[in-house]
Amino acid sequence: SNRALPKPSWLRVQPAESSNFNKLRTTVRKSGLATVCEEARCPNIGECWGGGDDGTATATIMIMGDTCTRGCSFCSVKTSRAPPPVDLDEPQKVADAVKEWGLDYVVLTSVDRDDMPDQGSGHFRKVVQAIKRESPDMLVEALTPDFQGNTDFIDKVATSGLDVYAHNVETVERLQRRMRDHRANYWQSLGVLERVKELNKGIVTKTSLMLGVGETDEDLTQTLTDLRSVNVDVVTFGQYLQPSKRHMPVKQYVTPEKFQEWQEVAEGMGFKYVASGPLVRSSYKAGEFFLKALVK
Ligand code: SF4
Ligand code: SF4
Repeated sequence: SNRALPKPSWLRVQPAESSNFNKLRTTVRKSGLATVCEEARCPNIGECWGGGDDGTATATIMIMGDTCTRGCSFCSVKTSRAPPPVDLDEPQKVADAVKEWGLDYVVLTSVDRDDMPDQGSGHFRKVVQAIKRESPDMLVEALTPDFQGNTDFIDKVATSGLDVYAHNVETVERLQRRMRDHRANYWQSLGVLERVKELNKGIVTKTSLMLGVGETDEDLTQTLTDLRSVNVDVVTFGQYLQPSKRHMPVKQYVTPEKFQEWQEVAEGMGFKYVASGPLVRSSYKAGEFFLKALVK
């Protein structure tokens, strides 16, 4: 049926306010930059911006505009074949802003720019380089498009000086066509993660999976095996939530207990760090995870 499943209680969260959170919110709004945390009304904003258990403040910034050349059935980002050109001043603007915000860890993500000759990889690289120039101690994660598997473009980002290269496979192999734009695919995405490790073993690689979209335990176990086979270090599992009625419906609300099971399965398979829970998003407390993954 098309009726939406009722939302279980574990998906209701209280916004956690703190002085760190309030300070960051004020400075972010003054800067005029868009964060995914606010735009997507992410339920974890209190924890990420507030610094979580160890005081590591994390935020996610969307670069290269708000309009994507692709259309995935789970995603609420606007789509166009010809989005406006990227802002050439963006690298410096972002670097100045995150320095002022006093973040410990920044996640850069972008729309897909299949319209640009280098698919935006050069611009992505410039943003990372500008941040590292202004704030050498800040940890930078790039959550990138697949660059259609082009190794020159992947390499441009991977050698930019970042700390974590993230690319999301989003779901198991069987459900790729259902969820992702036709230009994306499972093996291409695994290839991106594999390439980064081939280039530099020191870069932490990371990927995220949305659960509750119709995957079976077998599907998911196979995906984890495939991810380990290309040496992915970090994996996150979160519940898929339908952004609007026009988007793909939720097939199942996965229980917190089941998320805990996947956490243990993935840890047992050798991932260095695993985050798994109904409200976990790819960048959820990423700074904390990164630091823990390093000391392990
Ligand atoms: Fe959304 Fe990324 Fe798909 Fe674009 S490529 S529609 S930003 S999920
Ligand atoms: Fe922002 Fe990601 Fe944290 Fe959500 S999980 S608040 S998007 S950094």
